[in-house]
Amino acid sequence: MQEETIAAVSTPRGKGGVALLRISGIDAIEICGRVFRPKNGRALAEQPARTAVFGTIGMPESDGSFTPVDEGLATVFSAPASFTGEDTVEICCHGGILVTETVLAALLSAGARPAGAGEFTKRAFLNGKLGLSAAEALADLLEAQTREQLTLAHHGMQGATEEKCRAVYEHLRHLLASVYVRIDYPDEDLADLSEAELEKGFAECAESLRVLVATYRTGHAVAEGIRTVLCGKPNVGKSSLYNRILGRDAAIVTEVEGTTRDVLSETATLGRVTLHLSDTAGIRETGDAVEQIGVLRARKTIEDAELILAVFDGSSEPTEEDLSLIEELQKQTAPVIAVVNKSDLADNAGSSAYYQSVFANSVFCSAKDGTGIEALAALTERLFLDGELNLRQDAVLTNARQYAAAQKALEQTERAVRALREGLPIDLCCRDAEEAMRSLSELDGRGVSEELVAEIFSHFCVGK
Ligand code: GDP
Repeated sequence: MQEETIAAVSTPRGKGGVALLRISGIDAIEICGRVFRPKNGRALAEQPARTAVFGTIGMPESDGSFTPVDEGLATVFSAPASFTGEDTVEICCHGGILVTETVLAALLSAGARPAGAGEFTKRAFLNGKLGLSAAEALADLLEAQTREQLTLAHHGMQGATEEKCRAVYEHLRHLLASVYVRIDYPDEDLADLSEAELEKGFAECAESLRVLVATYRTGHAVAEGIRTVLCGKPNVGKSSLYNRILGRDAAIVTEVEGTTRDVLSETATLGRVTLHLSDTAGIRETGDAVEQIGVLRARKTIEDAELILAVFDGSSEPTEEDLSLIEELQKQTAPVIAVVNKSDLADNAGSSAYYQSVFANSVFCSAKDGTGIEALAALTERLFLDGELNLRQDAVLTNARQYAAAQKALEQTERAVRALREGLPIDLCCRDAEEAMRSLSELDGRGVSEELVAEIFSHFCVGK
């Protein structure tokens, strides 16, 4: 248990019906006892744990007197059965700004210190109450903007990634123990696993990790979001589509060509995926210096994108500009969806069929009346979500840190399999397996550096 007792207001600053303050640490119950007087006449320390008790909240004065400030509820959670794993008290008072601030000030003057960002969750992690991926899922839950993100975050908080990680870790440890026996007693037949069984075991670990690593495609698309760019020549309807996907008028739509000169970016939801959507200047040759910069930025955004929505006007024939865009897009590695817009107008000379023949993925839509947006969502989901994956059941990697650690563990395990298969010195297999186990403990947080832990929790809000 940490020496210092921390306190913070856990509800947002502002006027509300009630506010919640949290106090955690070795002296939490004693400190709160100075600030909170239960009406039932018994001291706070004698109240049954996990039961709210009604009382007076006040400021303990230096002369030993007590100035009442508010009335409210206090709940004691005794270590280790609390969120942080430490003695914790939650005080509910009325949600006025001054009332809440005064109750916090009373707790600080009674001996607590202000909690830093994410410090309650960090203590929970340090006390083994939750793994690092679960703590990250908790941060994602607070930030969730879509139902899909909420599902993923809620499931992540249950520790599915840690569980999967530990299962592979334990399997590797068992295999490694058998390898050590071979090294230590080369002439005796003491190892519990044959060489074939060892190889099979390592291959199974690699397969489990391969499955885990593959979940990041979906986890990234839902939790982090896909860098997506709308591109196309001027006036095909990029800004109209941008607004349609966002569900509001964020970009200026006019009949005047070249109105979008800079790159606009916002986060949007399309079906079950999250997009970091950028609307770019139409790519074309231009003498206008400002528009030229816009075109350069558009090109850079396209190169950095993970999904390209190439917009064309289906009501007119493809022009030179459309053809040169198509040529440029063929050099890109990110998937491209041809969005053939203005389907509410007549198709011109079969131009829709032309785009369909050029692009592997295409949809016809009208940014004007919304037709085809659902088809665009379905196509995007098909490209980025693994339909086999159950977000409520499976371990899913949701951020780049988790992915990098899992990928490293996979590569090291694959190396161990190769070393066995090719009959290389057994020490090499040991080294690879040990490294894989280290990467797995980075993934679940057991072997992660203090700096990284501090960095992760600094993104939380105070009071969490
Ligand atoms: P951008 O230059 O590619 O961003 O195109 P805008 O979104 O500014 O649209 C250019 C013009 O096309 C505007 O007059 C829009 O109202 C019109 N427009 C955009 N989408 C559609 C559509 O689906 N159908 C029709 N009929 N007009 C559209």
